[in-house]
This record gives sequence, C-alpha cells and structure tokens, in this order.
Amino acid sequence: MFLDRDGVINVCPTRRYITRWKEFRFLPGVLKGLRILALHGRTVIVVSNQAGVGRGYFRRSELELITRRMLERIRRTGGKIRAVYYCTHRFDAGCPCRKPKIQLLKKAAGKFSIDLTRSFVVGDHETDILMGRSAGCRTIHVLSGRQSRKDVRQWAVHPDRIAKDLAEAIRWILKQR
Ligand SMILES: [Mg+2]
Ligand SMILES: [Zn+2]
Repeated sequence: MFLDRDGVINVCPTRRYITRWKEFRFLPGVLKGLRILALHGRTVIVVSNQAGVGRGYFRRSELELITRRMLERIRRTGGKIRAVYYCTHRFDAGCPCRKPKIQLLKKAAGKFSIDLTRSFVVGDHETDILMGRSAGCRTIHVLSGRQSRKDVRQWAVHPDRIAKDLAEAIRWILKQR
C-alpha cells in the first residue's frame, strides 16, 4: 500500500509545505489505521512530493527530522512504515521522480518485491491517482486533503474509490481480495 503524506497521513499545511515538525498534525484515525495494517502484515510505503526542499523553503535535514519523528510516533503506536520516498525537486526541474511519474513506485516495488498490480495508492490529489493508475495499482482518493469530490469530477482519471479519510480507505482495502 502506497500512501501520499500531506492530506492523507497529516493535515495539509496551511501554507504550501510542512517545514517543521511542530506544524505536523496526524489526521484523525491515521495512527490506529496504520496499526491495523501492521497487524494484517501489509507493507506500507509513503511516496510524497516535497518540492519545498528544491525551492529552498526548508532543508533536507529538516525533512529528514520530520520523517524520523513521524515514523517514531507511528512505531510507538503499533504501526509500521517500511520506507518513505520523497521527490524533493522543483516542479520545473523535469526530474524523473516527481509524481505523477511512477519512478518512486517502481523503485519501491523493486526493492521490496511488491506486485504493483496488487497494490493500492491512497492520495488526496489527482497526481496521486494518475501515478497509481499508470503503475497499474488500484487507487483511492481521500477527502481529508486538498481536493474535494467536486475536483475529482474534473479529473482526467478517476479513482477506484473515494473515501472520507485514510481510516475509511484502510477498512475498504482490507475487504478487497
Ligand atoms: Mg497530498
Ligand atoms: Zn524528483
């Protein structure tokens, strides 16, 4: 299972980026949901665009600190995230890793022997759904982030499912075969 970060795990920043740990707030039900996934032995990987690093809004070391603290908190509450992949390049850098490109998914799939056609992508933005769709994953849009049901109607691609939040998405995923 591949999760976007902002708007899925944590509350979307009021400004564009989370630049400090003290701005990071877990969304309701996330920690519990991640614990349930861990109990089911599901592999959970985070894939997130953090262009704020490339744009100079915050340092990579700050992003790493936020990630460490996030993982620590998840671990303490019984959850498990296997890996976190970030694209930290600017939007206009033309890098091969920024979502909706699928390079980071493929990298993770190779490293952890994951079958992408049996994976799910959960995100709050069209780029997440585009990435998941291009990689052959099933996709779930959550309404806890930036884009609403109304936005989804304008997209070129449509998610397999729309859920209120990650907790609801996880309940649905665990019912699929
Ligand atoms: Mg997001
Ligand atoms: Zn990149």
